[in-house]
Amino acid sequence: MRPLPRFRVHRPESLEEALELLATLEKAKPIAGGTDLIPLMREVKVDVKHLIDLSRIEELNFIREEGGYIRIGATTTLSDLVESELIASKAPALWEAAASMGSPQIRNRGTIGGNLCNASPAADLGPPLLALEAEAEIRSLDESRCIPIGEVFAGPKVNSLAEDELLTEVRFKTPPQGAGSAFEKIGRRKAVTLALVNAAAYIEVEDKTCRVARLALGAVADRPMRLGEAEEMLRGKELSEELIEEVSALCSKLVRPIDDIRASAWYRREMSRVLSRRVLLKAWRRCKA
Ligand SMILES: Cc1cc2nc3c(=O)[nH]c(=O)nc-3n(C[C@H](O)[C@H](O)[C@H](O)COP(=O)(O)OP(=O)(O)OC[C@H]3O[C@@H](n4cnc5c(N)ncnc54)[C@H](O)[C@@H]3O)c2cc1C
Repeated sequence: MRPLPRFRVHRPESLEEALELLATLEKAKPIAGGTDLIPLMREVKVDVKHLIDLSRIEELNFIREEGGYIRIGATTTLSDLVESELIASKAPALWEAAASMGSPQIRNRGTIGGNLCNASPAADLGPPLLALEAEAEIRSLDESRCIPIGEVFAGPKVNSLAEDELLTEVRFKTPPQGAGSAFEKIGRRKAVTLALVNAAAYIEVEDKTCRVARLALGAVADRPMRLGEAEEMLRGKELSEELIEEVSALCSKLVRPIDDIRASAWYRREMSRVLSRRVLLKAWRRCKA
């Protein structure tokens, strides 16, 4: 195995201290679980002299419901998400995505902030957070801003944050009683696998009519994407298996996949149809429950 290049680790205990280090040190990078970053450093794909370890900053590690929002701190691990009753009951799409990721060891280390900031087009938390219309809180020493979750992704493995910024929190409106959401993924095997395609849906139904429909797919473009045209076809309609079948067929035309070593663009289009259908049906059935 290739040795890691030399670097220094800094272990701030407060957000302020971490932001100060990022603003002053050259070639500094935040590290949370390190499950994405350390392999990249080993392959010498990133040039880092200082690692700012976020794992001791208690104010970044929380899951709570407050003021009509579910708020999740950036260093919340995937295991924390899976163990959260709140996430399981209110945002099953996010719960299913976290539960599908890596192995127990990866879920114990990997964080929500790291998954988003790594900005992989296949990041499993991308589609559920897009379907939940989540926002990300971004902080630097002098500024705090809030952006839609999709805007964290700037391109394959490139996030939109400046070098002195940290993602501190992800939040979304608490889904109302009766809303349904679901996540599905297809990989090359059942566990410890990156998605060839992943998908999430969120649905609210009132008097049999679909009031809100959101659908997002991953690994089918340079970043996770919402499928607005498909959502439009569902809104204001009485849901049926036939309508969902029709909408799913459209999804395979809306995506922009590429051929790569893991799957062909053709296969990803086909699976976009299959997964869209599965998540829409599952989210709809959960609405009725
Ligand atoms: C064996 C294995 C299996 C995996 N399986 C999956 C899977 O099934 N699905 C999936 O989506 N991913 C998978 N991954 C990828 C990875 O585990 C996840 O993306 C994980 O959530 C990354 O979190 P982390 O805390 O380890 O990120 P890190 O490696 O610590 O960081 C990743 C990137 O984000 C930056 N960063 C981290 N936190 C912040 C922050 N708060 N603000 C700003 N920048 C930040 C870092 O500088 C780095 O660039 C797998 C990885 C491995 C090694």
